[in-house]
Amino acid sequence: MRHVAIVGSGPAGYYTAETLQKSADVAVDVIDRLPVPYGLIRTGVAPDHQSIKAVSRRYEGVALTDNVRFVGHVSVGSDVGIDELVDLYDAVILATGAPNDRPLDIPGAALPGVIGSAAFVGWYNGHPDFADLDPPLDAPGVAVIGNGNVALDVARILAKTAQEFAGSDIVAHARDALSTSAVRHIHILGRRGPHQIAMTPKELGELAHLERASPRVDPTDLPPEGDDAMLEPGMRKSVSHLRGFAANPVAKPVTIDFDFFAMPVAIEGDGRVQRVIVERTALDADLTSRGTGETYAIDVGLVIACIGYQTPPIPGVPYEHGRGRFANDDGRILPGLYCVGWARRGPSGTIGTNKPDGARVAEMVLDDMGGGTGKAGRAGLDALLASRGVTPVTFRDWRRIEEAEVRAALGGNPREKFVTIDAMLGAIGR
Ligand code: NAP
Repeated sequence: MRHVAIVGSGPAGYYTAETLQKSADVAVDVIDRLPVPYGLIRTGVAPDHQSIKAVSRRYEGVALTDNVRFVGHVSVGSDVGIDELVDLYDAVILATGAPNDRPLDIPGAALPGVIGSAAFVGWYNGHPDFADLDPPLDAPGVAVIGNGNVALDVARILAKTAQEFAGSDIVAHARDALSTSAVRHIHILGRRGPHQIAMTPKELGELAHLERASPRVDPTDLPPEGDDAMLEPGMRKSVSHLRGFAANPVAKPVTIDFDFFAMPVAIEGDGRVQRVIVERTALDADLTSRGTGETYAIDVGLVIACIGYQTPPIPGVPYEHGRGRFANDDGRILPGLYCVGWARRGPSGTIGTNKPDGARVAEMVLDDMGGGTGKAGRAGLDALLASRGVTPVTFRDWRRIEEAEVRAALGGNPREKFVTIDAMLGAIGR
């Protein structure tokens, strides 16, 4: 038998396992620090995007194959060391994603009320690390920094009514807080222009169909329409949505303003955020932004930085600080140690991007492993964890947790998630 450990049970982890499990002589352990699987599918993908979350059924199929095992509630770094895993398995693949926010490096960024998208998204999605976030929703203005799909998710969630969450799995604490929110003016701040957004058409188009909120674009920010011809088709479609928002402003109680050429340079407030200072930008020939010196202030009670993510470093594992990912050569980190998904390439692409990525890294690992070297694999891990008093959560356990979440769902919703590790473990009698 050849033994592979995958650290992280999100899309990258399970797509990699999917290819590996096709070799009958490979035993795969998918290890996760949470008692629940699926990573970003559970805690990153927006709760009102259930069709994207449905891919977890595919991962479940992989998890239920004979040679794949879920080892939940085991922290690599504290319960077991990475060096120990490398000793025990023929290959260790880090599929740890990029769960940390890239820091917003401007004065005032540490003020209460300034948060990163990992925290905010984790809060409304019930990630145990962020269940207590309690974001301030008591002021009309919110600044959402960044022009990617996460900024769109965040703006949409802030703008929706309670009724618009029907059929979603937004967690109760977020549903309740948002239903009494005072937020009325959401400013999406992009430091570059409409042709430089990283937003996809479907997600942009959704903004036109919100019950009480409408998107607004200043027509003077848009480049001449003829310039759209040079864009690739997806971007052209996205920009056409922006043109539609500019041409057809709709009056609704909540506004979502696209502030282009708008670079936040400072955040100010007395004990908490009260305003963000924005500098107007212009684009250089290489399409990077440069400040023009002209500034303005926007009154806000909450700033959410959606400016990208990074992979947390692991002591002893080479790391590329500038890019926030493990230093790797196409997935190879060190002999026997690999990475895949966002931990390999940085936080880009959609869930589906991880499928070919996982397959490629899995094929490479299979090649590198050859016939295996008779390592202890899962029996060795079990013995080590038992000696430390660590009892992993199995996939069967997870299904009991899942059943309890489904039972607790409000009418029409798919589930009501447990938001603490204690509650998850409580559902399986621990
Ligand atoms: P992203 O697509 O990389 O966008 C990050 C945005 O932040 C960019 O507009 C960037 O502007 C801006 N930014 C970076 N540093 C900044 C700074 N210091 N000040 C101001 N702005 C700054 O990242 P993301 O939105 O976090 O998304 C991550 C990945 O997940 C993407 O591939 C995304 O498509 C994917 N995703 C997909 C979906 C979906 O398919 N529904 C949903 C969510 C996320 P510049 O361009 O100027 O650098």
